[in-house]
Amino acid sequence: MFSPAVVAPERVNDADLWFIFQGTKLLVVSSDESPRVPCRLELNQLGYLLPHSHYLGSLTGCGCFSAEAPAATTVPPPWAWIGLRALFGQLDDQQFALAGRAIQVVQWDLTHKFCGRCGSLTESSPSERTRVCPDCGLASYPRLAPAIMALVRRGNELLLARSPHFPVGMYSALAGFVEPGESLEETLVREVREEVGIAIANPRYFGSQSWPFPHSLMVAFVADYLEGEIMPQPGEIEAAEWFSIDHLPSLPHRISIARRLIDANVEEIAASNLIGRSLR
Ligand SMILES: [Zn+2]
Repeated sequence: MFSPAVVAPERVNDADLWFIFQGTKLLVVSSDESPRVPCRLELNQLGYLLPHSHYLGSLTGCGCFSAEAPAATTVPPPWAWIGLRALFGQLDDQQFALAGRAIQVVQWDLTHKFCGRCGSLTESSPSERTRVCPDCGLASYPRLAPAIMALVRRGNELLLARSPHFPVGMYSALAGFVEPGESLEETLVREVREEVGIAIANPRYFGSQSWPFPHSLMVAFVADYLEGEIMPQPGEIEAAEWFSIDHLPSLPHRISIARRLIDANVEEIAASNLIGRSLR
């Protein structure tokens, strides 16, 4: 159980977890089968000098800290710097979620050293996740870019698409960033129209997932097909097709919200088909 906080407790604990980044690479211990985040005791044993840090909160009684390491810091095996994206599905889910939180706090802090309005050096607030300008008072909070994900249904079929940067053969739901002034529902309608040229109806909220690449919040919806023919947007969508739930292509990893969204809808359609059959 994780409880977020900003102010670190006075007492340090050998079991505190440290999320230390070098750019987008996280410091992990890889001695066992899967990599994990080191604790304070292990860092002390390594002789690592703990840098300026941010307190994130506590995980079952252990403090969680995030920090940025100098670029040239090297570590001996079994220690390693591994890109956060590559750790998706490798770290346990809770440590991955915390690593996503940690990198966003570190990156925000690094990119808001100066006031965006007057250029003065900012100061970090002792009680809030904020950097404040002492000259003009502008407060800068960690930045989040909300994005929607849309899974469009038509009878037994799902509309799935490929972006040019996806792994070969993989398809997923459509996704795009929310623009200033839009509601999530408006983004949904616009993105689906822009990316595949079709109109949708009846959007239903499914769930959300923090997506720290670099600072998105993915909000997933399912919607029904209304009208139009698929017209993939050049440059954005390499291919888009209606797939029957019995013949799905390669899909994203099971811990992504895209996969959970697709799986949940496949199950729902299959279950309603079963009920339909037994009623006939
Ligand atoms: Zn200022």
